[in-house]
Amino acid sequence: MSRLFPALDRKLVGHILRNGVRVGTADELAFEVALALERMGLINTTRRQFWRCAYRNDPDYLERLDRECEGIIEVDDPNKAYFCPECGQPIENVIEKKVFEDIQISLDPNGIAQYVSETIEALKLVASVEPLTQGAFLVLLADGRSLKLVVLDYAEARYRFASFYFAEPSLYVVVSPINEPVKHVLEERVYVQLWDLVSQDALWLAEKVNVAAYPVPDRMELASVEQRFDDMLARDNGWQYFEQQFVPALYAHVCENPRLVGDYLGQLKRISDTVLNFFTVPIGGAGRTDLRSINKFKMMNEVFAGNAIADAKRFVQSTLEQNHVSKILLHLMTDPQKPSRAIVFLSTDQVRSSAWEAVMQLKNNEGYWKIIVLTKYMILELLAQLDALNLLETD
Ligand SMILES: [Zn+2]
Repeated sequence: MSRLFPALDRKLVGHILRNGVRVGTADELAFEVALALERMGLINTTRRQFWRCAYRNDPDYLERLDRECEGIIEVDDPNKAYFCPECGQPIENVIEKKVFEDIQISLDPNGIAQYVSETIEALKLVASVEPLTQGAFLVLLADGRSLKLVVLDYAEARYRFASFYFAEPSLYVVVSPINEPVKHVLEERVYVQLWDLVSQDALWLAEKVNVAAYPVPDRMELASVEQRFDDMLARDNGWQYFEQQFVPALYAHVCENPRLVGDYLGQLKRISDTVLNFFTVPIGGAGRTDLRSINKFKMMNEVFAGNAIADAKRFVQSTLEQNHVSKILLHLMTDPQKPSRAIVFLSTDQVRSSAWEAVMQLKNNEGYWKIIVLTKYMILELLAQLDALNLLETD
């Protein structure tokens, strides 16, 4: 059995690759597969011992009031009083009851990204794999072509969406079968499922990589659109143009083209229940960061809802920090027009995890996006979808 291509049972792996799933240690086949996935670093497991409220072979079975009860009682201190959490009946003589054991699965995003990149790197046609951001890698092929390797469940907006709106060659990896409904959206793209990856071989994967490395036909290249955006910022007065000309012109364009806005939102709505409508951002302060999902359809709906102020200055060519978010909020609260929200136009994709946390917290408290952060990539996607690339030309 090879370390990178262990040829595990596809169906069992598909069952196990879900957060929160439990596998009984008595289920030998599934348990072995779970241990293999844990050794590969793809999942973490927590072991648990328990009694069943009503188990046919236990001496207290006939005393159980509800013999169909599915209640599970975790084993800890044998001297304490136990009650079934489902039916409430006390459990006595636990010492005589059969002890069951299972493990609970949690997916390990870092371990998964590491495994996926190592596996791609081991292919003969691949020259190198370099990490970009969470869940995204740049893959260079021996023949000179390149593509992005994107772990769809964990990647940020740019890598998740770029090959749906631009020519960007990408190979997607879908981690959890929970996200399987993306299939109908992904059919024309190249993607692999993690449960396929651990059950297939190198030849199969190499063919996927080879096909994925061709650019999507009839689309603009993200890099060339991005270059035009960067050139716009570099010309004239840089951020002043960005704030005083570009952003107002984009607002005007949105008002003049309701049909294009409707088309774009309609497109997002059609995939709104799939993993392709969500993107991941890191949240948290020093020492601990977590990944959070943002619903793009809902967020973009609010971008076009009106009654907002735009904030673009200061954040050009730097990272959006938590104290920037505080200042924007203050600006919002003291604005005489009483706007509902602020839309922050960023000229980079750099947002500190503490700034995301502040923005998300605000959203949770208010029940809507009080501050919407549009990163550079999201602005480029908007421009391309709203037919507004001419706004990048200064004169
Ligand atoms: Zn019970």
